[in-house]
Amino acid sequence: MIETKYAKIIAKIATIDPVKYGKTRNFLWGNVSQLSPYVSRGVISTKQIVDSLVHRGFKPFQIERLLQQLSWRDYFQRTAQQFPDLSERNVKNDPLHFKSTGIPNAILNAEIGIDALDEGIEQLLETGWIHNHMRMYLSMLHTNVARCDWRSGARWMYYHLLDADMASNDLSWQWVCGANSNKLYVANQENINKYAGSKQGKTFLDVDYDAFSDMPIPEPLRNTQDLSLTPTAVSIESLRKTTTILSPGEVFPNAKNSVLLYSWNNLDPKWREDESHRRILLLDADEFERRPISARTLEFVLALSKNIYELEIVYGRFDALQAQLPEHTFIFKEHPTQIGWKGQEDTRDWIFPEVTQYTPSFFGFWKKCEKYLKQF
Ligand SMILES: Cc1cc2nc3c(=O)[nH]c(=O)nc-3n(C[C@H](O)[C@H](O)[C@H](O)COP(=O)(O)OP(=O)(O)OC[C@H]3O[C@@H](n4cnc5c(N)ncnc54)[C@H](O)[C@@H]3O)c2cc1C
Repeated sequence: MIETKYAKIIAKIATIDPVKYGKTRNFLWGNVSQLSPYVSRGVISTKQIVDSLVHRGFKPFQIERLLQQLSWRDYFQRTAQQFPDLSERNVKNDPLHFKSTGIPNAILNAEIGIDALDEGIEQLLETGWIHNHMRMYLSMLHTNVARCDWRSGARWMYYHLLDADMASNDLSWQWVCGANSNKLYVANQENINKYAGSKQGKTFLDVDYDAFSDMPIPEPLRNTQDLSLTPTAVSIESLRKTTTILSPGEVFPNAKNSVLLYSWNNLDPKWREDESHRRILLLDADEFERRPISARTLEFVLALSKNIYELEIVYGRFDALQAQLPEHTFIFKEHPTQIGWKGQEDTRDWIFPEVTQYTPSFFGFWKKCEKYLKQF
Protein backbone atom coordinates (compact mmCIF):
# COMPACT_ATOMS: atom_id res chain seq x y z
CA MET A 1 0.00 0.00 0.00
CA ILE A 2 1.17 3.51 -0.79
CA GLU A 3 2.46 5.66 2.10
CA THR A 4 -0.25 7.56 3.95
CA LYS A 5 1.50 9.00 7.05
CA TYR A 6 1.80 12.78 6.85
CA ALA A 7 5.42 13.00 8.05
CA LYS A 8 6.52 10.45 5.44
CA ILE A 9 4.63 12.29 2.70
CA ILE A 10 6.39 15.53 3.62
CA ALA A 11 9.71 13.68 3.62
CA LYS A 12 9.00 12.53 0.05
CA ILE A 13 8.83 16.16 -1.13
CA ALA A 14 12.38 16.68 0.09
CA THR A 15 13.68 13.83 -2.10
CA ILE A 16 12.63 15.41 -5.42
CA ASP A 17 15.56 15.92 -7.78
CA PRO A 18 14.25 18.66 -10.10
CA VAL A 19 17.26 18.56 -12.41
CA LYS A 20 17.00 14.82 -13.09
CA TYR A 21 13.26 15.37 -13.34
CA GLY A 22 13.73 17.88 -16.15
CA LYS A 23 15.89 15.45 -18.13
CA THR A 24 13.91 12.22 -17.67
CA ARG A 25 10.28 13.04 -16.88
CA ASN A 26 8.90 11.86 -20.23
CA PHE A 27 10.23 8.32 -19.87
CA LEU A 28 8.08 5.76 -18.08
CA TRP A 29 11.10 4.94 -15.92
CA GLY A 30 11.87 8.69 -15.41
CA ASN A 31 12.54 10.52 -12.19
CA VAL A 32 8.99 11.69 -11.51
CA SER A 33 7.73 12.53 -8.03
CA GLN A 34 4.60 10.33 -7.77
CA LEU A 35 3.18 12.97 -5.45
CA SER A 36 -0.08 13.39 -7.42
CA PRO A 37 -2.16 11.16 -5.07
CA TYR A 38 -1.31 13.53 -2.19
CA VAL A 39 -1.79 16.70 -4.22
CA SER A 40 -5.16 15.53 -5.56
CA ARG A 41 -6.36 14.50 -2.13
CA GLY A 42 -5.37 17.94 -0.83
CA VAL A 43 -2.88 16.58 1.71
CA ILE A 44 -0.21 18.81 0.19
CA SER A 45 -0.40 21.63 -2.34
CA THR A 46 1.53 22.49 -5.48
CA LYS A 47 2.68 25.65 -3.66
CA GLN A 48 4.07 23.58 -0.79
CA ILE A 49 6.20 21.60 -3.27
CA VAL A 50 7.53 24.78 -4.89
CA ASP A 51 8.22 26.37 -1.49
CA SER A 52 10.20 23.30 -0.47
CA LEU A 53 12.34 23.44 -3.65
CA VAL A 54 13.00 27.15 -3.17
CA HIS A 55 13.87 26.55 0.48
CA ARG A 56 16.43 23.95 -0.67
CA GLY A 57 18.12 26.71 -2.70
CA PHE A 58 17.00 25.87 -6.25
CA LYS A 59 16.63 28.82 -8.61
CA PRO A 60 13.60 29.11 -10.95
CA PHE A 61 15.68 28.18 -14.05
CA GLN A 62 16.79 24.92 -12.38
CA ILE A 63 13.26 23.87 -11.57
CA GLU A 64 11.46 25.27 -14.59
CA ARG A 65 10.25 21.93 -16.02
CA LEU A 66 8.80 20.83 -12.71
CA LEU A 67 7.39 24.26 -12.02
CA GLN A 68 5.63 24.15 -15.38
CA GLN A 69 4.14 20.73 -14.71
CA LEU A 70 2.93 21.83 -11.29
CA SER A 71 1.45 24.88 -12.98
CA TRP A 72 -0.41 22.65 -15.43
CA ARG A 73 -2.25 21.35 -12.42
CA ASP A 74 -3.12 24.84 -11.16
CA TYR A 75 -4.11 25.82 -14.71
CA PHE A 76 -6.56 22.89 -14.91
CA GLN A 77 -7.96 23.82 -11.49
CA ARG A 78 -8.54 27.40 -12.65
CA THR A 79 -10.22 26.07 -15.80
CA ALA A 80 -12.49 23.86 -13.67
CA GLN A 81 -13.53 26.89 -11.63
CA GLN A 82 -14.65 28.43 -14.94
CA PHE A 83 -16.30 25.22 -16.26
CA PRO A 84 -17.48 23.09 -13.31
CA ASP A 85 -19.54 21.00 -15.78
CA LEU A 86 -16.46 20.02 -17.82
CA SER A 87 -17.02 16.29 -17.29
CA GLU A 88 -20.00 16.61 -19.60
CA ARG A 89 -19.23 19.49 -21.95
CA ASN A 90 -16.45 19.82 -24.52
CA VAL A 91 -14.42 22.86 -23.51
CA LYS A 92 -13.33 24.02 -26.99
CA ASN A 93 -14.47 21.76 -29.85
CA ASP A 94 -16.96 18.94 -30.42
CA PRO A 95 -14.99 15.95 -31.74
CA LEU A 96 -16.71 14.35 -34.75
CA HIS A 97 -14.68 11.16 -35.03
CA PHE A 98 -16.25 9.04 -32.28
CA LYS A 99 -18.08 5.87 -33.33
CA SER A 100 -18.97 4.46 -29.90
CA THR A 101 -19.84 5.66 -26.42
CA GLY A 102 -18.48 2.42 -24.92
CA ILE A 103 -14.99 1.24 -24.03
CA PRO A 104 -12.98 -1.46 -25.85
CA ASN A 105 -12.92 -4.82 -24.04
CA ALA A 106 -9.22 -4.97 -24.89
CA ILE A 107 -8.61 -1.91 -22.66
CA LEU A 108 -10.74 -3.27 -19.81
CA ASN A 109 -8.91 -6.61 -19.94
CA ALA A 110 -5.37 -5.37 -20.76
CA GLU A 111 -5.43 -7.35 -24.00
CA ILE A 112 -4.50 -4.69 -26.53
CA GLY A 113 -1.53 -6.64 -27.83
CA ILE A 114 0.89 -3.74 -27.32
CA ASP A 115 2.95 -5.00 -24.39
CA ALA A 116 3.85 -1.64 -22.85
CA LEU A 117 0.20 -0.52 -22.87
CA ASP A 118 -1.11 -3.80 -21.47
CA GLU A 119 1.49 -3.52 -18.70
CA GLY A 120 0.37 0.08 -18.08
CA ILE A 121 -3.26 -1.03 -17.65
CA GLU A 122 -2.19 -3.80 -15.28
CA GLN A 123 -0.20 -1.26 -13.28
CA LEU A 124 -3.23 1.05 -13.09
CA LEU A 125 -5.50 -1.78 -11.90
CA GLU A 126 -2.95 -3.05 -9.38
CA THR A 127 -1.63 0.21 -7.93
CA GLY A 128 -3.93 3.11 -8.89
CA TRP A 129 -1.11 5.18 -10.39
CA ILE A 130 0.42 5.38 -13.88
CA HIS A 131 2.89 7.74 -15.55
CA ASN A 132 1.63 10.78 -17.48
CA HIS A 133 2.85 9.38 -20.81
CA MET A 134 0.99 6.12 -20.20
CA ARG A 135 -2.18 8.11 -19.47
CA MET A 136 -1.72 9.91 -22.79
CA TYR A 137 -1.13 6.63 -24.67
CA LEU A 138 -4.23 4.99 -23.23
CA SER A 139 -6.44 7.98 -23.84
CA MET A 140 -5.26 8.44 -27.43
CA LEU A 141 -5.85 4.73 -28.07
CA HIS A 142 -9.38 4.93 -26.68
CA THR A 143 -10.42 8.20 -28.35
CA ASN A 144 -8.39 8.57 -31.53
CA VAL A 145 -7.65 4.97 -32.56
CA ALA A 146 -10.66 3.03 -31.19
CA ARG A 147 -12.77 6.18 -31.72
CA CYS A 148 -14.67 5.88 -28.48
CA ASP A 149 -16.10 8.95 -26.74
CA TRP A 150 -13.63 10.40 -24.24
CA ARG A 151 -16.18 10.37 -21.41
CA SER A 152 -16.26 6.57 -21.01
CA GLY A 153 -12.45 6.34 -21.04
CA ALA A 154 -12.11 9.25 -18.64
CA ARG A 155 -14.61 7.75 -16.17
CA TRP A 156 -12.80 4.37 -16.32
CA MET A 157 -9.35 5.84 -15.67
CA TYR A 158 -10.61 8.22 -12.98
CA TYR A 159 -12.34 5.35 -11.17
CA HIS A 160 -9.04 3.51 -10.78
CA LEU A 161 -6.69 6.44 -10.04
CA LEU A 162 -5.68 7.27 -6.46
CA ASP A 163 -5.02 10.80 -7.75
CA ALA A 164 -8.41 10.99 -9.52
CA ASP A 165 -9.04 14.66 -10.18
CA MET A 166 -11.93 15.90 -12.28
CA ALA A 167 -9.99 18.83 -13.75
CA SER A 168 -6.62 17.21 -14.55
CA ASN A 169 -8.24 14.02 -15.77
CA ASP A 170 -11.13 15.24 -17.87
CA LEU A 171 -9.29 18.21 -19.35
CA SER A 172 -6.37 15.96 -20.32
CA TRP A 173 -8.72 13.48 -21.98
CA GLN A 174 -10.32 16.41 -23.80
CA TRP A 175 -6.91 17.71 -24.80
CA VAL A 176 -5.92 14.35 -26.32
CA CYS A 177 -9.07 14.00 -28.46
CA GLY A 178 -9.25 17.61 -29.66
CA ALA A 179 -12.14 18.70 -27.41
CA ASN A 180 -9.77 20.96 -25.45
CA SER A 181 -7.15 21.47 -28.19
CA ASN A 182 -7.01 21.97 -31.91
CA LYS A 183 -5.48 18.67 -32.96
CA LEU A 184 -5.64 15.01 -32.03
CA TYR A 185 -2.72 13.52 -30.10
CA VAL A 186 -1.50 10.16 -31.42
CA ALA A 187 1.62 8.10 -30.75
CA ASN A 188 2.98 5.25 -32.85
CA GLN A 189 4.86 2.14 -31.78
CA GLU A 190 8.24 3.83 -32.29
CA ASN A 191 7.26 6.56 -29.82
CA ILE A 192 5.94 4.02 -27.31
CA ASN A 193 9.15 1.96 -27.61
CA LYS A 194 11.26 5.08 -27.05
CA TYR A 195 9.52 6.18 -23.85
CA ALA A 196 8.59 2.74 -22.49
CA GLY A 197 11.98 1.18 -23.23
CA SER A 198 10.26 -1.61 -25.22
CA LYS A 199 11.32 -3.09 -28.56
CA GLN A 200 8.04 -4.38 -29.95
CA GLY A 201 7.30 -4.22 -33.69
CA LYS A 202 4.62 -5.35 -36.13
CA THR A 203 1.69 -4.06 -34.07
CA PHE A 204 -1.25 -2.06 -35.40
CA LEU A 205 0.52 1.09 -34.15
CA ASP A 206 3.73 0.25 -36.02
CA VAL A 207 2.92 2.83 -38.71
CA ASP A 208 3.98 6.29 -39.88
CA TYR A 209 2.07 9.25 -38.49
CA ASP A 210 0.27 9.99 -41.75
CA ALA A 211 -1.45 6.58 -41.49
CA PHE A 212 -3.47 7.69 -38.47
CA SER A 213 -5.92 10.01 -40.24
CA ASP A 214 -7.75 7.25 -42.16
CA MET A 215 -6.77 4.22 -40.09
CA PRO A 216 -9.65 1.71 -39.76
CA ILE A 217 -10.37 0.76 -36.13
CA PRO A 218 -7.86 -2.05 -35.45
CA GLU A 219 -9.37 -5.51 -34.94
CA PRO A 220 -8.41 -5.84 -31.21
CA LEU A 221 -10.23 -2.58 -30.41
CA ARG A 222 -13.48 -3.25 -32.27
CA ASN A 223 -15.44 -4.96 -29.49
CA THR A 224 -16.68 -2.40 -27.04
CA GLN A 225 -19.04 -2.51 -24.09
CA ASP A 226 -20.88 0.10 -22.06
CA LEU A 227 -18.81 1.14 -19.08
CA SER A 228 -20.07 -0.40 -15.85
CA LEU A 229 -18.39 0.60 -12.59
CA THR A 230 -19.18 -0.54 -9.06
CA PRO A 231 -21.04 2.40 -7.45
CA THR A 232 -19.03 4.07 -4.70
CA ALA A 233 -22.03 3.62 -2.36
CA VAL A 234 -21.51 -0.17 -2.57
CA SER A 235 -17.85 0.17 -1.58
CA ILE A 236 -18.87 2.42 1.33
CA GLU A 237 -21.21 -0.28 2.63
CA SER A 238 -18.45 -2.86 2.73
CA LEU A 239 -15.99 -0.41 4.35
CA ARG A 240 -18.53 0.22 7.12
CA LYS A 241 -17.63 -3.23 8.50
CA THR A 242 -14.24 -1.93 9.59
CA THR A 243 -14.59 1.86 9.75
CA THR A 244 -17.16 4.11 11.40
CA ILE A 245 -18.83 5.93 8.53
CA LEU A 246 -21.95 7.74 9.69
CA SER A 247 -24.92 8.80 7.62
CA PRO A 248 -26.03 12.44 8.07
CA GLY A 249 -28.97 11.28 10.25
CA GLU A 250 -26.49 9.83 12.76
CA VAL A 251 -24.72 13.16 13.32
CA PHE A 252 -25.94 15.26 16.27
CA PRO A 253 -25.18 18.82 17.40
CA ASN A 254 -22.52 19.21 20.06
CA ALA A 255 -21.07 22.14 21.99
CA LYS A 256 -18.85 23.26 19.12
CA ASN A 257 -21.02 25.04 16.61
CA SER A 258 -18.46 25.49 13.89
CA VAL A 259 -17.46 22.62 11.64
CA LEU A 260 -14.32 22.28 9.57
CA LEU A 261 -15.73 20.31 6.66
CA TYR A 262 -13.11 18.18 4.95
CA SER A 263 -13.67 16.48 1.62
CA TRP A 264 -11.78 13.81 -0.28
CA ASN A 265 -10.16 16.79 -2.10
CA ASN A 266 -9.08 18.41 1.16
CA LEU A 267 -7.36 16.12 3.62
CA ASP A 268 -4.82 18.71 4.74
CA PRO A 269 -3.85 18.01 8.38
CA LYS A 270 -2.34 21.51 8.71
CA TRP A 271 -5.51 23.35 7.71
CA ARG A 272 -6.59 25.55 10.68
CA GLU A 273 -4.70 23.04 12.79
CA ASP A 274 -4.54 25.14 15.98
CA GLU A 275 -8.18 26.20 15.96
CA SER A 276 -10.92 24.56 17.96
CA HIS A 277 -13.70 23.26 15.69
CA ARG A 278 -15.61 20.11 15.16
CA ARG A 279 -13.99 18.23 12.25
CA ILE A 280 -16.09 16.26 9.78
CA LEU A 281 -15.01 14.56 6.56
CA LEU A 282 -18.01 14.60 4.21
CA LEU A 283 -17.80 11.89 1.56
CA ASP A 284 -20.20 13.62 -0.80
CA ALA A 285 -22.70 11.10 -2.22
CA ASP A 286 -23.68 13.50 -5.02
CA GLU A 287 -20.10 13.80 -6.19
CA PHE A 288 -19.49 10.03 -6.11
CA GLU A 289 -22.67 9.42 -8.09
CA ARG A 290 -21.44 11.84 -10.75
CA ARG A 291 -17.95 10.32 -10.80
CA PRO A 292 -17.58 6.96 -9.01
CA ILE A 293 -14.25 5.98 -7.44
CA SER A 294 -12.91 2.53 -6.63
CA ALA A 295 -12.87 0.83 -3.22
CA ARG A 296 -9.08 1.12 -3.24
CA THR A 297 -9.22 4.91 -3.69
CA LEU A 298 -11.76 5.14 -0.85
CA GLU A 299 -9.48 3.09 1.41
CA PHE A 300 -6.65 5.46 0.50
CA VAL A 301 -8.83 8.44 1.46
CA LEU A 302 -9.73 6.85 4.80
CA ALA A 303 -6.08 6.04 5.51
CA LEU A 304 -5.07 9.65 4.75
CA SER A 305 -7.90 10.95 6.95
CA LYS A 306 -6.17 9.35 9.97
CA ASN A 307 -3.65 12.23 9.83
CA ILE A 308 -6.46 14.55 11.00
CA TYR A 309 -7.20 14.64 14.72
CA GLU A 310 -10.69 13.65 15.98
CA LEU A 311 -12.28 13.46 12.56
CA GLU A 312 -15.84 12.20 12.14
CA ILE A 313 -16.55 10.55 8.78
CA VAL A 314 -19.93 10.98 7.10
CA TYR A 315 -21.19 9.61 3.79
CA GLY A 316 -24.17 11.51 2.37
CA ARG A 317 -25.36 14.79 0.94
CA PHE A 318 -24.34 18.25 2.11
CA ASP A 319 -27.99 19.38 2.45
CA ALA A 320 -28.82 16.44 4.72
CA LEU A 321 -25.82 17.16 6.96
CA GLN A 322 -26.73 20.83 7.14
CA ALA A 323 -30.32 19.93 8.06
CA GLN A 324 -28.98 17.84 10.97
CA LEU A 325 -26.76 20.67 12.22
CA PRO A 326 -28.82 23.83 11.51
CA GLU A 327 -27.02 25.97 14.10
CA HIS A 328 -23.55 25.10 12.84
CA THR A 329 -21.33 27.20 10.60
CA PHE A 330 -19.54 25.13 7.96
CA ILE A 331 -16.02 26.10 6.93
CA PHE A 332 -14.45 24.35 3.94
CA LYS A 333 -11.80 24.84 1.28
CA GLU A 334 -13.05 25.92 -2.12
CA HIS A 335 -13.30 23.18 -4.78
CA PRO A 336 -15.32 23.23 -8.02
CA THR A 337 -16.81 19.77 -7.37
CA GLN A 338 -18.45 20.82 -4.09
CA ILE A 339 -21.64 21.93 -5.77
CA GLY A 340 -24.24 23.35 -3.37
CA TRP A 341 -21.95 23.46 -0.30
CA LYS A 342 -22.82 26.54 1.74
CA GLY A 343 -20.77 28.25 4.41
CA GLN A 344 -17.45 29.99 4.77
CA GLU A 345 -15.12 29.16 1.90
CA ASP A 346 -11.33 29.23 2.38
CA THR A 347 -9.19 29.64 -0.73
CA ARG A 348 -6.81 26.88 -1.74
CA ASP A 349 -3.06 27.46 -2.01
CA TRP A 350 -1.89 28.40 -5.51
CA ILE A 351 1.65 28.74 -6.86
CA PHE A 352 0.66 32.00 -8.54
CA PRO A 353 -2.34 33.31 -6.57
CA GLU A 354 -2.26 36.51 -8.66
CA VAL A 355 -3.20 34.67 -11.89
CA THR A 356 -6.88 33.90 -11.38
CA GLN A 357 -8.49 34.47 -14.76
CA TYR A 358 -9.28 31.64 -17.18
CA THR A 359 -6.89 31.57 -20.14
CA PRO A 360 -7.81 29.37 -23.14
CA SER A 361 -4.28 27.93 -23.45
CA PHE A 362 -1.75 26.75 -20.88
CA PHE A 363 0.99 28.82 -22.49
CA GLY A 364 -1.14 31.96 -22.19
CA PHE A 365 -1.55 31.14 -18.51
CA TRP A 366 2.18 30.39 -18.10
CA LYS A 367 3.13 33.71 -19.70
CA LYS A 368 1.10 35.49 -17.01
CA CYS A 369 2.74 33.34 -14.29
CA GLU A 370 6.26 34.03 -15.58
CA LYS A 371 5.91 37.67 -14.52
CA TYR A 372 5.82 36.51 -10.91
CA LEU A 373 8.82 34.13 -11.15
CA LYS A 374 11.08 36.84 -9.71
CA GLN A 375 9.44 36.37 -6.33
CA PHE A 376 11.01 32.91 -5.93
C1 LIG B 1 -5.29 11.29 -19.79
C2 LIG B 1 -4.71 11.89 -18.54
C3 LIG B 1 -5.40 11.79 -17.34
C4 LIG B 1 -4.86 12.38 -16.17
N1 LIG B 1 -5.57 12.27 -15.00
C5 LIG B 1 -5.10 12.86 -13.87
C6 LIG B 1 -5.82 12.80 -12.65
O1 LIG B 1 -6.94 12.26 -12.56
N2 LIG B 1 -5.25 13.36 -11.54
C7 LIG B 1 -4.03 13.99 -11.59
O2 LIG B 1 -3.55 14.47 -10.54
N3 LIG B 1 -3.35 14.10 -12.74
C8 LIG B 1 -3.84 13.55 -13.88
N4 LIG B 1 -3.13 13.66 -15.06
C9 LIG B 1 -1.90 14.50 -15.08
C10 LIG B 1 -0.59 13.75 -14.84
O3 LIG B 1 -0.53 12.60 -15.63
C11 LIG B 1 -0.38 13.35 -13.37
O4 LIG B 1 -0.62 14.44 -12.50
C12 LIG B 1 1.07 12.91 -13.17
O5 LIG B 1 1.40 11.87 -14.06
C13 LIG B 1 1.27 12.47 -11.76
O6 LIG B 1 2.53 11.88 -11.57
P1 LIG B 1 3.64 12.59 -10.68
O7 LIG B 1 3.06 13.01 -9.39
O8 LIG B 1 4.82 11.69 -10.66
O9 LIG B 1 3.94 13.86 -11.54
P2 LIG B 1 5.25 14.74 -11.66
O10 LIG B 1 5.66 14.67 -13.08
O11 LIG B 1 6.25 14.40 -10.62
O12 LIG B 1 4.72 16.22 -11.43
C14 LIG B 1 4.56 16.80 -10.13
C15 LIG B 1 3.13 17.23 -9.96
O13 LIG B 1 2.77 18.16 -10.98
C16 LIG B 1 1.42 17.96 -11.39
N5 LIG B 1 1.41 17.54 -12.78
C17 LIG B 1 2.43 16.99 -13.48
N6 LIG B 1 2.07 16.79 -14.76
C18 LIG B 1 0.80 17.22 -14.87
C19 LIG B 1 -0.13 17.28 -15.94
N7 LIG B 1 0.17 16.89 -17.17
N8 LIG B 1 -1.35 17.77 -15.69
C20 LIG B 1 -1.70 18.20 -14.45
N9 LIG B 1 -0.86 18.17 -13.40
C21 LIG B 1 0.37 17.69 -13.61
C22 LIG B 1 0.86 16.86 -10.48
O14 LIG B 1 0.22 17.44 -9.37
C23 LIG B 1 2.12 16.11 -10.07
O15 LIG B 1 1.98 15.42 -8.86
C24 LIG B 1 -3.64 13.08 -16.24
C25 LIG B 1 -2.95 13.17 -17.46
C26 LIG B 1 -3.48 12.58 -18.58
C27 LIG B 1 -2.72 12.69 -19.88
